Amino acid sequence: MSTQKKAYIETYGCQMNISDTELMHGILAAEGYAATEKPEDADVILVNTCAIREHAEQRVLGRVGQLQQFRRGRPDVVIGVTGCMAQRLGADLLDRAGGVDLVMGPDAYRQLPEKLAALRHPAPALPVLGGATAAGGLTVLTFDPFENYEGVEARRTSGASAWVPIQRGCNYRCTYCIVPYVRGDEKNRAPEAILDEVHRLVADGVVEVTLLGQTVNSYEHDGWDFPRLLRAVARVPGIRRVRFTSPHPNGFTRELVAAMAEEPTVCKQLHLPVQSGHDRTLKRMLRRYTVQAYLEKIAWVREAMPEIALSTDVIVGFPGETEKEYHATLELMRTVRFDDAYLYKYSLRDGTPATRLPRKQFVPDDVAQTRLVKLIETHREIQAQINRSELGRTLEVLVEKEAKRGGLLGRTEGNKVVAFAGASTLIGHFATVRLTGTTGATFSGERVEDQPVQRVA
Ligand code: SF4
Repeated sequence: MSTQKKAYIETYGCQMNISDTELMHGILAAEGYAATEKPEDADVILVNTCAIREHAEQRVLGRVGQLQQFRRGRPDVVIGVTGCMAQRLGADLLDRAGGVDLVMGPDAYRQLPEKLAALRHPAPALPVLGGATAAGGLTVLTFDPFENYEGVEARRTSGASAWVPIQRGCNYRCTYCIVPYVRGDEKNRAPEAILDEVHRLVADGVVEVTLLGQTVNSYEHDGWDFPRLLRAVARVPGIRRVRFTSPHPNGFTRELVAAMAEEPTVCKQLHLPVQSGHDRTLKRMLRRYTVQAYLEKIAWVREAMPEIALSTDVIVGFPGETEKEYHATLELMRTVRFDDAYLYKYSLRDGTPATRLPRKQFVPDDVAQTRLVKLIETHREIQAQINRSELGRTLEVLVEKEAKRGGLLGRTEGNKVVAFAGASTLIGHFATVRLTGTTGATFSGERVEDQPVQRVA
């Protein structure tokens, strides 16, 4: 029987967390841990968490309770909570989620092997490193202004596509957002290290990379800005698709639009969070742009790349949002006509500036819910119209995986999901597919051979 230690990591939240899980697997692999998909086989069970919404945190607390069953008969198994929720709740998590041994924030992952060893083999004569608690768990919550995980080899599982973090943390302080308080200030990786990583990924068979950062376009390092980095990544031989997420509308410049338009490997797809369609709400959110400025940037993008696929994030029911302001958001959705949108109700997060707004300004939950439902309906209608207009087109699809109901799933350049029949040997390759049907949000298609590909979103 193998004695190799195994680590199971369950991930919640955004792409940055998916990328951090790959990083943690890499750190553990260097210490001899194998990754496992089965918590019942694992010596270490980690839940990598998100703190953006209350609901996400509740789910994690429930899940941590369920995971305790995998410890039965194996008292040495370590259960830990990592990521933004761990950083936000700290030692409180040890009380709120029974049976947790380790609480670790996003800047401390290099210490994972050392802390796991301390937990598995505690040395009573020596103080345990980090914050040992009365409950017997360990909390490691240090912010490190220089921690970029340079030199750590992430362990990736995603085949032909890879997330490449170029930045950690955020210098904005949007009043609803917990991220700067759990991930700290912005830290950018050296361009040489990023390019080196992309070269190595290509050598391993990766053809699509997504550059990741909380405000990815504010990237700056030793005279390099984001457009320069994007162009350099786009020109790495062997790269076929480059994406990035998420840019902030501030600092979304004409130079960046030009880089997107001129570099053939940069996907003609953009996720540009708007959050609200009214200046007063934007101001209270401290987003630092106006609706007019946002629309102007959308116009630049569409002028340079008429085929661009656009997506966004919106929060409804932010404290003080009036019906008029909400209707301005609906109007913005109708004006821009996004291909995709992530729409949320405001979720109060302790520790964020918005919690200090007067309680009487808080939008009642039923009102916020009604606004959200209408916004989703409006968006889905527009999305279905856009997608129906694309039927009959022939596109290049990067095949990602087998669909649950049989067949394959892949993505277009515009990041739209297409299901079609084909052999699993196509996974990780490009296929030429004609779009034949749409559910409104996704497509069904037929593989066609020797057809010219139309560049559309
Ligand atoms: S830009 Fe605003 S919303 Fe985005 S991570 Fe930073 S503070 Fe949060």
